[in-house]
Formats: sequence, structure tokens, C-alpha cells
Amino acid sequence: MRILISVDMEGIAGVTGREEIMRGHHDYERFRHLMTAEANAAIAGAFDGGADSVVVNDSHGGMRNLLYEELDPRAELISGHNKVLTMVEGGQDTQGALFIGYHARAGTGGAVMDHTISGAQVHNWFLNGTPVSEAEINAALLGHYGVPVLLVSGDDKIAREVNERLPGVATAIVKHGMDHRAARALPRSVVLQRLHDASQEAVSTIARAPIHRVPGPVTFRLEFTRSFYAEVASLMPSVVRLDGRTIEVTGQDIVEAWRWASSALRLGSTGDN
Ligand SMILES: [Zn+2]
Repeated sequence: MRILISVDMEGIAGVTGREEIMRGHHDYERFRHLMTAEANAAIAGAFDGGADSVVVNDSHGGMRNLLYEELDPRAELISGHNKVLTMVEGGQDTQGALFIGYHARAGTGGAVMDHTISGAQVHNWFLNGTPVSEAEINAALLGHYGVPVLLVSGDDKIAREVNERLPGVATAIVKHGMDHRAARALPRSVVLQRLHDASQEAVSTIARAPIHRVPGPVTFRLEFTRSFYAEVASLMPSVVRLDGRTIEVTGQDIVEAWRWASSALRLGSTGDN
């Protein structure tokens, strides 16, 4: 059994501010160790739960955060950017996935660094008309390949959203969000043990895991933070501009829709120049 572990950074215990998750900032190097430690707890749990191979996908920012030399040597590591499935690349040939260090969707109150894909550019990200978190988008992408998400870890707010939107997916809370830049982290020993145990349990009960399939055609709607992002994204013929800040794309299936949406975001982002 092969397991994908997608690791983001905003939902790692102890993380509360941008300086901790952005390259070049003073605190960033410290928090890379914490991120890698949480990945390792999940890797160990996955193997103890019955996995015989694990691939970890670095899923935050430029996707070069995890410390390879500190990663459990049994795991493979995908790092770097421009992956079609971005945060869940490498999951296509696995049997299940764990999402570690995830965060609530844009607009969630009391959540640590809530955003969806790009906080600076996207105010709200909708899938078939419903606002979604990255966890939900990624679950749908993996569902296209018949791969179930087994576990999502992060603060209590992403756990609540997963419980609401992805029933049957386990959650592991490592901190309680207080506001956008504050949280109460659980003791580190509790966090690492909980991630290990939850990963082990999730992998060992994989036969019961639901697959989150979103049948096509699929529509993504992006409400940008600025009108000029929508304006530039609309240069692409497949993009429909709904209003000053909002665009929509449709794909025959979730992967095609995702490729259009992420391309529109990339193109729109050049509107800053
Ligand atoms: Zn992130």
C-alpha cells in the first residue's frame, strides 16, 4: 500500500504568523524543522498502519520547505513547483492520502491564516458554486483517480470544515485558532503522538474510507481581491468574467477545471505588473 502525505505549513502547531512560513524571514528556518517533524510523525504512523511505501509532497508556497535530510529516510519527497496537481501531485498512483498542516478556507473566522490557494489574490474560491477549502479541492482531485483522503490535520477550524464537507475523513487538531494570527498550540509531545496515532488509525482502516468524487462538468469560480486580476485572467478565452472581480471556468472533469482555474490565477496574478 502506497500513501501520499501532502504537507502544508499554516496548520502546523506553533505557526501563527507570516514571518514563520515565508522564506527569507528570520523565524522561517525554525518552523521548517517543526513542519518536518509533523511530516515524520505522519510517515511513521502510515508505516505502522500498514503502508509499505510513502511519498511526501511539499505543499506550501514554493514547495521547497521540508528538510530532506531530516525526513524519515523511508519516505520519498516531492519538492518544487509547477506540478499539475500542485498540493496532491504524486497521489495518482497511491491508495490513500493524509493532509498535514492544513488550514481553513478563506473567510473563516477564528482560523489561523485562513485562505484558499492565494490569500493575496483570491477572496473566495468556489467549486460548483460552494466556497471550498484547499482540503476539499485536493480531495476532489484525488477522487478523480479513485484515491481517498484519510486524514486532515491543522487547527480546529479546518477540522470543523472537513467534518462538514468531507464526512468520513478523520481529523487531527494540533492547535486551536484564536484569530487570523493567533492560536493555542497543544503540547508538542501531544501533537506528534496524535499525528502518529491518527495516521496509523486512518491508514489501517483505509478499506472504509469514502472517495470524494465530484462528477463533471466541474466549475470553479474565483472571486479575486482586485478587479485587475479578473481583467487579466479574462484574456484567456476559456475564462468567463462574471463581474468586476469574479471569473468562472468549466472543465469536463475536476482535473481539467483545476488546470483552467490555476492557469487563470497564474495569468491573473501578472496583473500586478
Ligand atoms: Zn501554505
